[in-house]
Amino acid sequence: MGRYTGPSCRQCRREGTKLFLKGTRCFTEKCSVERRPFAPGQHGQSTARRRKTSEYAKQLREKQKIKRIYGMSEKQFRNTFERVAAQPGVAGHNLLAALESRLDNMVYRMGFAASRKAARQLVRHGHVEINGKLVDIPSFLVQPGQELRIRMKSREMEAIQVSMDQSSRGAPLAWLAVDRESFSGRMLERPQRTSIPIAAQEQLVVELYSK
Ligand code: SF4
Repeated sequence: MGRYTGPSCRQCRREGTKLFLKGTRCFTEKCSVERRPFAPGQHGQSTARRRKTSEYAKQLREKQKIKRIYGMSEKQFRNTFERVAAQPGVAGHNLLAALESRLDNMVYRMGFAASRKAARQLVRHGHVEINGKLVDIPSFLVQPGQELRIRMKSREMEAIQVSMDQSSRGAPLAWLAVDRESFSGRMLERPQRTSIPIAAQEQLVVELYSK
């Protein structure tokens, strides 16, 4: 199955939690989870009672949630898991570190885009360089020490300017250095789980995929 292209807010309502997929709107009272805190669809208001609570159902929901936060297709997400599963360390932490290292996520985390979806578009449209070279692949894995930079010709874009103004209010992440003056940043080290601000139980994904 490919990437979901329907309404973002519907995904949050399905998971019953804010996934922060739409940038600033997510922090206002217009957020759909705030306004309609029940599952989407005709029977949304009654699904809470009937929802399955088996271990499998919990693992599946958590996988869907994390996959949706990062805006990935099932195939991409599964491939990412397979790649990190053999690495030393805690598989769930490795999974999140790999997801955080994606170029689209890094553009979002550095504050150059209001959401991962907007960041993905910036990357695809050729507005981002790594170590001075254009990279237009959102899944590109940024390595510690590499420099990410918004291209000179793209710096006047309103979407980038607005996002940078709003992101300056957030707490910086310990594993990232951002230089707003030069529209650039670096990953200082591989992100540790404790410094990845995602409310998720990634070990449930490991259990699901390890069956
Ligand atoms: Fe989710 Fe943001 Fe939509 Fe709220 S506004 S439902 S957090 S995408």
